[in-house]
Amino acid sequence: MIGVLALQGDYDKHLRTLDRVNIPAIDVRYPSQLSKIDGLIIPGGESTTMNDLMSRIDFHNHLIDFAQKKPIMGTCAGLILMSKKIKNDDKINPLGILDIEVTRNAYGRQLHSFIDKVEVVVDGSIINERVAFIRAPKISSIGKSTEVIGKHKNDIVGVKTGIHYGFAFHPELSENAYLHQYIFQGKTHYKEENNAA
Ligand code: GLN
Repeated sequence: MIGVLALQGDYDKHLRTLDRVNIPAIDVRYPSQLSKIDGLIIPGGESTTMNDLMSRIDFHNHLIDFAQKKPIMGTCAGLILMSKKIKNDDKINPLGILDIEVTRNAYGRQLHSFIDKVEVVVDGSIINERVAFIRAPKISSIGKSTEVIGKHKNDIVGVKTGIHYGFAFHPELSENAYLHQYIFQGKTHYKEENNAA
């Protein structure tokens, strides 16, 4: 059973994505529910609001404990919350689950949201997809324990620290569910491309 943190933001789209590929899922609103799930998604939304709602019910410590043993995938605001340091915000208390530093709203305002192709490499498979960036953060630096798994032009947009994943874009708004299936079911879809040389 996979949980989607459902305090604020785009959680419903993640639940639908998981449902579409038959991954059993529940919305998680209380820390006590964490014991029932095998993995968690922290969705996009507004990281400041989510952080405030999390603080009210001591979610931070419970999520840090959960992450010791089970995988978490964070998308956009979720990635911000999972980071170690936020360069341009000191009101959010980041979880430090992904060893990265991020800059919020780094592409500009809502108007500068866009859809473009990214390249994500998981387990030797290359996924080339058009995805949505909505007031997305940029990953400004990564620690030694973090692997870059996604690029958009010269920007890092996907990372992995141990069993945890973070994406600056919104995979739940794509038609496919490749990243959800890879992270929570271990399924890969693409074989290595570009190996003609
Ligand atoms: N700009 C938002 C924040 O900083 C993130 C946007 C998103 O999740 N799509 O929280």
